[in-house]
Amino acid sequence: MSRFAYVNGHYARHADAAIHIEDRGYQFADGVYEVCEVRGGRLIDERLHMDRLERSLAELRIAMPMSRAALGAVLRETVRRNLVRDGMVYLQVSRGVAPRNHLFPAADTAPALVVTAKSVARTSGDTRAESGVAVISVPDNRWERVDIKTVSLLPNVLAKQKAKEAGAYEAWFVDKDGNVTEGSSTNAWIVTADGALVTRPATGGILKGITRTVIFELAARSGLRIEERAFSIEEAKAAREAFITAATTVVMPVVRIDDQAIGNGSPGSIATDLRRQFHDFAEEAAAWSRG
Ligand code: PMP
Repeated sequence: MSRFAYVNGHYARHADAAIHIEDRGYQFADGVYEVCEVRGGRLIDERLHMDRLERSLAELRIAMPMSRAALGAVLRETVRRNLVRDGMVYLQVSRGVAPRNHLFPAADTAPALVVTAKSVARTSGDTRAESGVAVISVPDNRWERVDIKTVSLLPNVLAKQKAKEAGAYEAWFVDKDGNVTEGSSTNAWIVTADGALVTRPATGGILKGITRTVIFELAARSGLRIEERAFSIEEAKAAREAFITAATTVVMPVVRIDDQAIGNGSPGSIATDLRRQFHDFAEEAAAWSRG
């Protein structure tokens, strides 16, 4: 099957799709992105992803490349042209194309927009969740504005590769106080002995994940208590359960941190339940927001 990508106003064959060599995303990582899960051909939590996109762009003083409604149409059309039922849609907005110069380009420079979509079998994540994943801890060496979903991901890339080479799936960043911030592409959670969910506040050190936000609502409905506070890597290693969340990962149980098994070394029941409930809840929430 040929794949298609949307690039600055056109749908091109994926293999031929290209951006200009002076795209500021390419030269300076001067851009932002979003990843939205697609399930049954529908975008999960689209409104929340659009809200975060607008925020990321505003923080960097990049204009929306088109209206929210038009962007939604491009996302859906890219999903449709790629025949994606289950998978993901990726969008990236850069500050546009201009002769290389650190300074912002002229005000009339249009932001550049790329959208791709791909299928991911539902079963691949489910199978992984049955055994759970290992994580390693690495020092957090990122800049302070990790709340912005920028394409500037070099520390995250290096951390994820290090995890893979250590036989793990994810790397958890640990700040200078010994507290876990988040994963290289996921938010980090632990479960206390008395069954409370703990995750770091989104006031610094993390990206405010959309999946994380939905888990807050889901937990409230399920009667689970959430403690939004810092937790140390030692507390995590001694926790009853641990898990990670992200749009395409959903809820993924963590069964090992560095050399320490978590709980009894198999996926915890709370993480497994949250994973099971997530899509029903996200669908319902989407239905409410459509009114
Ligand atoms: N933190 C980081 C650094 C990420 O890259 C991601 C995934 N984009 C997340 C957290 C999870 O965010 P979301 O639930 O919106 O996918």
